[in-house]
Amino acid sequence: MPWDVRQAPHVITWEVTRACQLHCRHCRAKAIRHRNPAELTLAEIEQVLEDIRDHFDPHPLLIFTGGDPTERDDLLDILRASVQRGLSTAVAPSVTPNLTPAVLDAWREVGVRTISLSIDGPSPAVHDTFRGVPGTFLASLAVARAIKERGFGLQVNTAVDVHTVDSLPEMGALARDLGVASWEVFFVVPTGRARQEDALSPESMDRTLAWLATYAQSAPYRVTAVAAPQYRRVMLETIPGLARPRTPAVREAQGFAFIDHTGEVYPSGYLPVSGGNVRRTPLSTIYRESPLFVSLRDPDALKGKCGTCPYRDICGGSRARAYAVHGDVLAEDPGCPYSAVMAV
Ligand code: SF4
Repeated sequence: MPWDVRQAPHVITWEVTRACQLHCRHCRAKAIRHRNPAELTLAEIEQVLEDIRDHFDPHPLLIFTGGDPTERDDLLDILRASVQRGLSTAVAPSVTPNLTPAVLDAWREVGVRTISLSIDGPSPAVHDTFRGVPGTFLASLAVARAIKERGFGLQVNTAVDVHTVDSLPEMGALARDLGVASWEVFFVVPTGRARQEDALSPESMDRTLAWLATYAQSAPYRVTAVAAPQYRRVMLETIPGLARPRTPAVREAQGFAFIDHTGEVYPSGYLPVSGGNVRRTPLSTIYRESPLFVSLRDPDALKGKCGTCPYRDICGGSRARAYAVHGDVLAEDPGCPYSAVMAV
């Protein structure tokens, strides 16, 4: 039976803290140096884990992130609590001195399966400039190898903006050399510290997605595009004979949810409009019933070009980018150059 994204998300990304030692140029969270005393406690996190176990079927993948999740001294307890409830558990740490071989060993021991690392370019010149800390590129490569040596699945995440887009082919080759299981290419949304002038133009996004669609055909790992559901349209336009997908794209509130460090539940980490707080309402209720989440899954609620687009049922546009630029979660996606009128 196909996964009903109205009932259960595929992926939940959980920002267990906003604290981080890095100062990345595009940071969604505007990460802070010190932990917020209002963070969810371990006991509160365990309650949410039980809701996920009992009410989402199939169980989603949980990705514990930040800020930098290693800034929490009870992170290992959180990961253990997730694994013990039978949930597929991944971690997305920042590469800082906190991330030692002993920490990786402990995660392996409690049953973490996958670790995702951000590598935004194939060289220190690209990556370190983007991340704001010299030496992070080489440190990230060393961590990636340590992750592989321990038998974790490795996912590499690459943020694409005007500074990194030209090095994507080399970045894809580096991902192959590192033996990644998946490469997630994130199209920067102008929110948090990311600026509109850093984001790709709609035409450049389409060109990049077309390159990615072709590249993914022969890549030895899974390739996904994030904050760019029009990848579905571009794939159909680029790959001859490709069948039209029968399911909607995973995007904000549609197969995806984000829990912030204080328990607010967002459609994604890049769409700062809350559907509710797990301190007051179960996550499963927010995901299924909050008016925000329900409206974001309704293709007929979309406005502008997205509202009349023949791809709206399988794409629907980035709701995060629509909100960042237009201040309306249902507005047309300003990152997509497609026009149904011009295509006729
Ligand atoms: S116009 Fe909107 S729905 Fe259509 S392909 Fe572009 S982003 Fe997707």
